[in-house]
Amino acid sequence: MPELPEVETIRRYLDKDLSGKTIKKIDVLVKKQFIGNPKTLEGKKITDVIRFGKVLSLKFSDSLYLSIHLKLTGQLLVNKKSLAAKTTHIIIYFTDKTVLYFNDLRKFGWMKVASTPEKPKGIDILSKSFTQIFFTDLTGSTDKPIKLLLMDQDKLAGVGNIYANDALFLAKIHPLRKTRSLRPLEIKNLYSAVKKVIASGLKFQGASDNSYVLPDASTGRYQNHFQVYGRENKPCLICKTPIKRIKHHGRSSFFCPHCQK
Ligand SMILES: [Zn+2]
Repeated sequence: MPELPEVETIRRYLDKDLSGKTIKKIDVLVKKQFIGNPKTLEGKKITDVIRFGKVLSLKFSDSLYLSIHLKLTGQLLVNKKSLAAKTTHIIIYFTDKTVLYFNDLRKFGWMKVASTPEKPKGIDILSKSFTQIFFTDLTGSTDKPIKLLLMDQDKLAGVGNIYANDALFLAKIHPLRKTRSLRPLEIKNLYSAVKKVIASGLKFQGASDNSYVLPDASTGRYQNHFQVYGRENKPCLICKTPIKRIKHHGRSSFFCPHCQK
């Protein structure tokens, strides 16, 4: 699933490419993926492209928003139909002939027209509210495994499986550690590690290990810089111990059994 660095990379691209453009028509080919009336947006001009956690929103003049969640396999492509083919489910035509394609193999993603943007409850990692104090308070509030807390969009918005695994490796913390058992220094290190992996993901324009691509169909490069994610049986980047993978709450957790306690 695209996480904060992937969605933010798309946001920056769309902001540059679509801001100022006016929608001519929207074709919804898979009805369940579009909430609201697409005709509402005909003739409306995009004034900004914003993001809260993993949710993008196109902002229009007169307080209208088209929020977009890519979920597992959603892609947004500008003027690149050929790549999309059979998985294109929504097509947005602009008056200047630009076309935005929404492709989604698994069909869990959605677009929604509303007078407010969709926002997850959690604090966005790139927002000013994500402070060391906030993070320390948050870790004191629960006893669930730390990895689940990092991925809880009602608490922290933007971190998914890739960046949670890699942040825990950098902080040398086992993914199943009970959150309340973390010592102050570990919390401090984890806070820095979360910021570091998100910054690294952004620097490499996200991880294209799965369906994620940029709107020009190019790929991100963070998959070449994974710390532990997707590296089962490969040597730990620090101590060479083979990386382990375990299933936890339906997701894969990757960790070094030597470095992470
Ligand atoms: Zn190691």
